[in-house]
Amino acid sequence: MLSVNGLRKSYGQLEVLKGISLSVREGEVISVIGASGSGKSTFLRCLNLMETPSAGHLEFENFSLDFESGARRQPTSRQLCELRTRIGMVFQSYNLWPHKTVLENVIEAPIHVRKMSRREAIEQAEGLLGRIGLYEKRGSYPSKLSGGQQQRVAIARALAMSPKVMLFDEVTSALDPELVGEVLSLMSSLAAEGMTMLIVTHEMAFARDVGTRTLFFDQGVVAEDGPPAEIIGNPRSDRLRQFLRRVVHDPAQLGPSA
Ligand code: ADP
Ligand code: MG
Repeated sequence: MLSVNGLRKSYGQLEVLKGISLSVREGEVISVIGASGSGKSTFLRCLNLMETPSAGHLEFENFSLDFESGARRQPTSRQLCELRTRIGMVFQSYNLWPHKTVLENVIEAPIHVRKMSRREAIEQAEGLLGRIGLYEKRGSYPSKLSGGQQQRVAIARALAMSPKVMLFDEVTSALDPELVGEVLSLMSSLAAEGMTMLIVTHEMAFARDVGTRTLFFDQGVVAEDGPPAEIIGNPRSDRLRQFLRRVVHDPAQLGPSA
């Protein structure tokens, strides 16, 4: 449903993504691991075209886009906008609008981008907030919510656009440890419902247990790609073993495989 071929991204002289080819099937839940600076965030941003790749090809729904300069199928700005609404993204910093209530945060894009009626948007938002257990908070401002609650609202806000794919970039990294679980469990339930997702995370047990597939990013390439239990449980390359030793100080912390 979403594929890229030979995707590259440079910032000036620095080549951050060095030719990534990947095909994502509907319903796949892909955990993305790798050291800081390996290009994971840049990759997600290129997938929903918040960043324009320097080269490569992307296919998604009815889009077929080439990024080489001078290529025939360069995306128009209208295509970029449309594509971004079809691929949801959630970040480490929740980026909720502080001067809007929870409900207003969730209905904003459906009304202004999707041209949904206010009434329909509210109905949908209330349903989503109910599902994530935050219906009672619909009239509150983000500052009155815990970090975990704010992050769940940010996820609901992305879901309100009915995306085909959801991208998560270290969404629990800024949270206090006791709030991580509620956000991970929301992502697990989305996965169980069949949402197609790419999840950049440093939570190795989660990466191993939620995903149907794991990618290990190393210096701008996908160095390993396979079933989570194999990639994380039985790493083949020295680089991946080193990485796992660094992020998982105590291997017992990973616990038994689910
Ligand atoms: P990761 O998410 O794996 O930590 P990033 O994709 O954030 O990695 O960054 C990969 C590399 O690209 C880093 O060296 C980073 O400094 C560089 N980089 C990321 N964004 C930009 C930017 N907007 N301008 C210049 N360099 C960038
Ligand atoms: Mg990152």
